[in-house]
Amino acid sequence: MNHFELKDGELTCEDVPLKTIAEAVGTPVYVYSSATLERHYTVLRDALRGAGLGEPLIAFAVKANSNVAVLRTLARLGAGADVVSEGEIRRALAAAVPPERIVFSGVGKTAGELAFALNAKVAEINVESEPELRLVDQVAQGLGTRARIAIRVNPDVAAGGHAKIATGKAENKFGVSLAEAERLYANASNAAGLTPVGLACHIGSQITDLAPMEAAFSKMRGLVERLRDQGLTVERLDLGGGLGVPYFNQPAPPGPVDYAAMIGRVMDGLDIGFAFEPGRVIAANAGVLVARVMHVNARPEGRRFLVLDAAMNDLLRPAMYEAYHDIRPVRPRPGEPVAYDVVGPVCETGDTFTRDRMLPPLEGGDLIAFMTAGAYGAAMSSEYNSRPLVAEVLVKGADYAVVRPRETYEAMLARERPAPWLQ
Ligand SMILES: *Cc1c(COP(=O)(O)O)cnc(C)c1O
Repeated sequence: MNHFELKDGELTCEDVPLKTIAEAVGTPVYVYSSATLERHYTVLRDALRGAGLGEPLIAFAVKANSNVAVLRTLARLGAGADVVSEGEIRRALAAAVPPERIVFSGVGKTAGELAFALNAKVAEINVESEPELRLVDQVAQGLGTRARIAIRVNPDVAAGGHAKIATGKAENKFGVSLAEAERLYANASNAAGLTPVGLACHIGSQITDLAPMEAAFSKMRGLVERLRDQGLTVERLDLGGGLGVPYFNQPAPPGPVDYAAMIGRVMDGLDIGFAFEPGRVIAANAGVLVARVMHVNARPEGRRFLVLDAAMNDLLRPAMYEAYHDIRPVRPRPGEPVAYDVVGPVCETGDTFTRDRMLPPLEGGDLIAFMTAGAYGAAMSSEYNSRPLVAEVLVKGADYAVVRPRETYEAMLARERPAPWLQ
């Protein structure tokens, strides 16, 4: 469910026509719905509560959408933050996410980032390897503190909508094996700088089938029980994110209620605190990318290119993951659908959003919206081809605010410095 609907023939976000935003802010522009963000968060929270999982920590995966206004919208409902860098910790803190709701994940945290996280008193550092465990111990001891850590387990199951977003197979770079986790957890309980509090896993993204998750979570439960049998304390089980969303061309993924019910079954009777790290399922359908059609280039041999003012630097998912985004005209014209190759102006063949897509007829100057662009959209944007970083707008009811203005050319150039010998 989302809040992007046609009203009086115009695509709107809540009560604001997308055209109004496009005219005021320019295009391309990301537009987010507060109501959709809030709804997705509360539906997931209520489903998890309803499945007997207590009051879980729902740490929104900041990498999916790192805009501080988006993070703040979720933090006000009680969401935490799953972060993978110091920059993301700073964003979460700027959004007033309490440190006790921040979980620090990622395979390559530097000593500097770890020190920053410990000084900020984040809830938990998810440790992904033995060398990292030693580093966290060392940094914590150097600061005269103890790091609360969870061991990230790689449960060796295949899941995820694309090879580039599968993280839970043994060959992926993430986490340690179950056997290794058992050993590291015991070691960590004897380390002066570490307090092991739990286990974590995250097996992939855009998962549309609960079976691999269920397999992974059963293994996680078994590991909790083995550690407890050894007399070790395990307070928390962090089950990651990964729940998929409908991108229109795919089978409908299971909803939060089925997901929560499955976890409730697998974890029945296990007395533990739960944490989750959802990203896409909260943010994807809460955002669209609005772009303008610059022109329609109809080749004599038949191919029709819809050339947009948005490009792969603004929305990388199609180029990077062959991702499908539904495309809707902001004001649909009457007429038979036409097959378009939808492309951006960047000098790369990969700057093609889709080929042979049947869309209502479009003309130069029309606005279109890429749907389901609220996750891994703006967060992955760049200035490739020296295109200013895309703008972001947050809507609430009949109000909207520019929550990241479009970068100016002046600011873009001002970041660079001449080399002294080139003066
Ligand atoms: C990316 C990531 C997530 C979020 O994944 P989604 O598929 O967006 O829910 C959660 N946890 C970790 C460790 C991640 O790397």
